[in-house]
Amino acid sequence: MTTAFITHGDYLLHEMGADHPECPERLGAITQYLASSELGNRLKWLAAQPVSEKLLEKVHPVEYIRWLDSLQPEKGLAYADPDTALNPHTMHAARLAAGAVTMATEMVLGGEINNAFCAVRPPGHHAERSIAMGFCFFNNIALGVEQALSHSDIERVAILDFDVHHCNGTVDMFQNRPEVLVCSTFQHPFFPHRYYDIQRPNIINSPLPAGTTGSEFRRTVERDWLPALHYHQPQMIFVSAGFDAHKADPLGQLLLDEGDYRWVTNLIVEAAACFAGGRIVSVLEGGYDLEALAHSVHTHLEGLASG
Ligand SMILES: [Zn+2]
Repeated sequence: MTTAFITHGDYLLHEMGADHPECPERLGAITQYLASSELGNRLKWLAAQPVSEKLLEKVHPVEYIRWLDSLQPEKGLAYADPDTALNPHTMHAARLAAGAVTMATEMVLGGEINNAFCAVRPPGHHAERSIAMGFCFFNNIALGVEQALSHSDIERVAILDFDVHHCNGTVDMFQNRPEVLVCSTFQHPFFPHRYYDIQRPNIINSPLPAGTTGSEFRRTVERDWLPALHYHQPQMIFVSAGFDAHKADPLGQLLLDEGDYRWVTNLIVEAAACFAGGRIVSVLEGGYDLEALAHSVHTHLEGLASG
């Protein structure tokens, strides 16, 4: 079992101003905790490469990509939306974030690794085809999915998203693509207030009220995700792994802990073994309490590495 940990030092150059929760220190906390642990030695550490422009233009309109590139300032910050800012390094980091996921996808499909975790920023699951929002510019996981589906033998994939926020961008991308199952648990009502009630057979939305406990989260995942996975029979599983549903997180009001993240990781690993030849690409989304984030990612990686 080889689990890759894909990241890049240049992710730290993107920052959105003092006191912004989506800060470079998030990745520092993850990598430092991992490097100091026994698990860190068992992972294959890799540096991300930029996404191909051709694939990027397949997922996002070229006008949108050019608009973001032109918005990037030479110094200071420029705002794509009130929460989502660019500094002089943002577009480079965004291309490397998407590139980590496409690189992981190719390596998993090529059999070089069994699964991968992409420790990236900026995150991606709020980025719609033509809208940057919620700290996201390019939809990293959608780029990995398109890369996977470009392989003739991959016809069905699943995206599982346990971030505290609904994956509006991912739903925007795949609402009319029945070959892509999207399952999302999320606090509701809550940001981003988009697509949470869409009715499509391949979109499984599981809203959770503020204060939802780990055991209620587990019951919801078993009730909603497992039948959908059995029906869809995905050949590869992508995970939008946000850890902001942790009870210590300053943005969310759900009550998950590391044990719940280990539980859901084990469920994903078992589903991947059952349907998808063990193929998993997991991608960091949110998670804003640095200690809870570092511990939760470690737990998630333990599950992936034991799969
Ligand atoms: Zn989130």
